[in-house]
Amino acid sequence: MISLKDKKDCCGCSACYNICPKKAISMQEDIEGFLYPIIDNNKCVKCNLCIKVCPILNNKKETKLSEVYGCKNKNVEEQKASSSGGIFTSLANYILDNNGIVFGASYNDKWEVIHKFIDKKDDLDSLRRSKYVQSDINNTYKQSKEFLDNNKFVLFCGTPCQIAGLKNFLNKDYTNLYTMDFICFGVPSPKIWKIFLEQNFDTNNIIFINFRYKEFGWDHFYLKIHTVTRNYFVTLYKKFKNKYKKYLIHLLSVQYFFSRYYYLSFFKGFLYSLFLRPSCHTCVFKGTERYSDITVYDLWGVNNIAPQLYDSNGVSGLNINSEKGKFLFEKIKSNLFFTIINYEQVIKSNPRFLTSNEPHNKREEFFERYKKENLNKLINSLLGERFLILKIVKATIKKFKKFKYHK
Ligand SMILES: Cc1cc2nc3c(=O)[nH]c(=O)nc-3n(C[C@H](O)[C@H](O)[C@H](O)COP(=O)(O)OP(=O)(O)OC[C@H]3O[C@@H](n4cnc5c(N)ncnc54)[C@H](O)[C@@H]3O)c2cc1C
Repeated sequence: MISLKDKKDCCGCSACYNICPKKAISMQEDIEGFLYPIIDNNKCVKCNLCIKVCPILNNKKETKLSEVYGCKNKNVEEQKASSSGGIFTSLANYILDNNGIVFGASYNDKWEVIHKFIDKKDDLDSLRRSKYVQSDINNTYKQSKEFLDNNKFVLFCGTPCQIAGLKNFLNKDYTNLYTMDFICFGVPSPKIWKIFLEQNFDTNNIIFINFRYKEFGWDHFYLKIHTVTRNYFVTLYKKFKNKYKKYLIHLLSVQYFFSRYYYLSFFKGFLYSLFLRPSCHTCVFKGTERYSDITVYDLWGVNNIAPQLYDSNGVSGLNINSEKGKFLFEKIKSNLFFTIINYEQVIKSNPRFLTSNEPHNKREEFFERYKKENLNKLINSLLGERFLILKIVKATIKKFKKFKYHK
């Protein structure tokens, strides 16, 4: 049976939980809020299937990078509604048009991030956009196997370790399975996300969360959380046709200052690797050899790599790793603007393709203190937020300049 010596040896993919024929494994939250397998010795029959499916113990990367493209969706609404260039939507549309099933990460009614499947386009928006929190795979590997065995097309999207877990769980090359992963920075703790929401909002009042709000451009990270009360400001500024007035109202609204502050805490903690999963710091699923058919990412540095594609609504990089990936790209490429790009340039601007983040040197201290202290204050004090007002002024000036540019 699977036993963990070190937390970094478990990526939380839940393959062991999904495979166990005796339901002897449950995924339980540790003190940092990440899920790990716990075995019920009374139920375990020591079949060792849990060991065989673990992608960290059995890392058999199956695919290899062959082609690299810069691209964006021709449908501007789909592009704007996505994290980068809207490639996932294009892939999902193709699968759904062919009566298939799409798996990806969504919020549940408590704003926790979970994996689920959809079978119609009306539900596609729930899977769109990055949620910078580790998603709970739950029993979606088992569900996808059922669909695959019933000859349905399946597109499964997730972190590289989740795709590795799925492939090891299936242990068979299904011709009707397509997989998409992304360049992954690492996944933050679901518990920290939960506390962040609870301390700052009435979660029952939240109506929409977008980690990649693009009003001020795709290359500017902006977490936007709409609540019933704050939605007032959104409605108000939407009424103004004149962009300057709209911007001014937005700027003056409490929402602006608060969202800026929130951005500075959870988003900042994420980007400074304060509360990523331990296994993300030694991720073994990076590089040109992978498990997925297609890898997508933000095409950072697009101005140097493929300036003709630059677009403030978002541009993606797309790597083809297999024949199935090639097949999918052929099917969707008429919906994209695309160009072949240079792999060396991509990794220069997006180092997380090859290497993991170092944990922040205050990570341990953070997890010792987070239960006793206010999260925003703790994050800001550990990461140094002494000049908040100055930062807000600077950010405001930057936004005005950008706004003039895009007008
Ligand atoms: C935790 C995380 C870290 C990332 N790190 C990087 C990075 O370092 N560099 C980089 O270039 N890009 C990174 N990305 C990918 C990037 O944010 C975009 O998802 C990617 O460019 C695809 O954009 P899109 O417009 O094609 O699709 P989108 O519509 O944005 O689709 C996003 C896809 O990712 C899935 N997804 C969303 N959140 C999660 C999650 N928490 N767990 C598993 N699957 C999820 C969705 O179901 C959907 O399939 C990261 C994404 C996530 C979720």
